[in-house]
Amino acid sequence: MDETTDALAHALRDVRQQVDNAARSANRPTPRLLAVSKTQPAARIAALAAAGQHAFGENYVQEAATKIAELGPLGLEWHLIGHLQSNKAKDAATLFDWVQTVDRDKLVTALARHRDAARPPLNVLVQVNIDDEASKHGCQPDEVAPLAAAIAAEPRLRLRGLMAIPTPWPDLERRRSAFAQVRRLYDGMQATHPGVDTLSMGMSEDLTVAIAEGATMVRVGTALFGRRPATTQPQDAP
Ligand SMILES: *Cc1c(COP(=O)(O)O)cnc(C)c1O
Repeated sequence: MDETTDALAHALRDVRQQVDNAARSANRPTPRLLAVSKTQPAARIAALAAAGQHAFGENYVQEAATKIAELGPLGLEWHLIGHLQSNKAKDAATLFDWVQTVDRDKLVTALARHRDAARPPLNVLVQVNIDDEASKHGCQPDEVAPLAAAIAAEPRLRLRGLMAIPTPWPDLERRRSAFAQVRRLYDGMQATHPGVDTLSMGMSEDLTVAIAEGATMVRVGTALFGRRPATTQPQDAP
């Protein structure tokens, strides 16, 4: 193992330990760990995969396309966790195993239309906007049920649950209350759609609180890969 591979393997062990501990104290099953690999080169993703990590999250369709092509032979599981523009729905339905950011009907139709019938259905999460007034991404809480119904009606899609990115309030108790609100929406979705099994919330800084409030998947970047370069990543061109 070279130095980087070794460091990544250590970070993975530490994060898994933290996730395990949080689940144990909350008396919940251990959540899945999604490694958020935006801005990370394919070689570092391959190194983390060699250490045993299987699922990776990317924010930008174009950036992901290159990495997925390069890392295809590793058989990794790819999640889109960034905002999806409708004109990128075809690429997203082709490249990814999961899309976590479905927040409007138009995307449901487009993803279903473009998912290859020869492949398993595309796994889909509804993204809900709980308290982030600065962002237009994510549907409103009262739109979750109709959107879930639309997804469930599409044979090429598989409704798996709910995803949220609450405002990162410095006060963790304020974050906890946002996570608890998402959890209540998730419970409602599960009551209507018993196949639903995924509540994606919590990142490097607040995964312990998210797990205590019921997350079944945490999305972790910085704690695995280290701090990303400060340069802002351009959004996919419209
Ligand atoms: C970048 C990102 C993460 C990971 O954030 P860290 O703080 O680096 O762990 C999780 N979810 C989404 C949607 C992201 O964009």
